[in-house]
Amino acid sequence: EAVLPLPPSTRVLTISNQKGGVGKTTSAVNLAAALARAGARVLVIDLDPQGNASTALGVDHRSERQSVYEVLVSDLPLAEVIQTSSEHERLDCVPATIHLAGAEIELVSLVAREQRLRRALDAHLETMERPYDYVFIDCPPSLGLLTINAFVAAREVLIPIQCEYYALEGLSQLLSNIELIEKHLNPELRLSTILLTMYDSRTNLAQQVAQEVRDHFPTQTLDTIIPRSVRVSEAPSYGQSVISYDFASSGSLSYREAAAEIARRGASESKETN
Ligand code: ADP
Ligand code: MG
Repeated sequence: EAVLPLPPSTRVLTISNQKGGVGKTTSAVNLAAALARAGARVLVIDLDPQGNASTALGVDHRSERQSVYEVLVSDLPLAEVIQTSSEHERLDCVPATIHLAGAEIELVSLVAREQRLRRALDAHLETMERPYDYVFIDCPPSLGLLTINAFVAAREVLIPIQCEYYALEGLSQLLSNIELIEKHLNPELRLSTILLTMYDSRTNLAQQVAQEVRDHFPTQTLDTIIPRSVRVSEAPSYGQSVISYDFASSGSLSYREAAAEIARRGASESKETN
């Protein structure tokens, strides 16, 4: 398999969209798996109480297990909850348990409530002899404190957009939130990547939506589009990415291509030149 260029330092991408079911988790898992296979060291932080990314990566996230919840609320070091995925030896995961559902409220009264993930992640990266090349944070479908923690911990936002009628609705709210975070909490944050997902090439509507997104975000939108494919939706129930589940499928191919685009852009881009 092709080896991709590695970034000069850790790239932290938060995968966000306040809509549910647009492909956030699917994209986090499959991009992470593709990059790990191509030689990168990758961490996925599951920040959704549903724990779907943890499930898809085959890591234990039963409620009695310590998770990102304890990291956020009780200052547990990240190292104590990281698990190696069953997907790949270079792919690790910080699991989410159902306790995380309460964190949104518990965080409100804590000191530096917006910075807690950032501090835990930065502290962990500093202890690593060879830090991760990529960290993907899988956000819940809301713009609450968990998502704010992800925005503060990240340098880049990746927005998956489903090619359907209401795709752009709510996007302006997401963008103004990113702007607010950049202004007040994390000056390094930028929208680096938009990934079109669940594309059905048979419909005119999907083509129109894809074009509209490209018109709005010409530099951020990846050339690669993820097609709607049954193989993509089947893979998580086997605790696998679509790449291990069916390497030759169209979903696997498109996620590997999208990962290659992300890797190549990161090798040549910085905030100043963007
Ligand atoms: P989110 O994390 O944004 O809520 P998911 O990644 O969980 O969205 O995707 C929502 C549902 O759509 C899941 O059942 C997933 O398996 C399915 N899905 C995601 N991407 C695709 C795709 N390209 N083709 C078919 N089904 C998909
Ligand atoms: Mg999800």
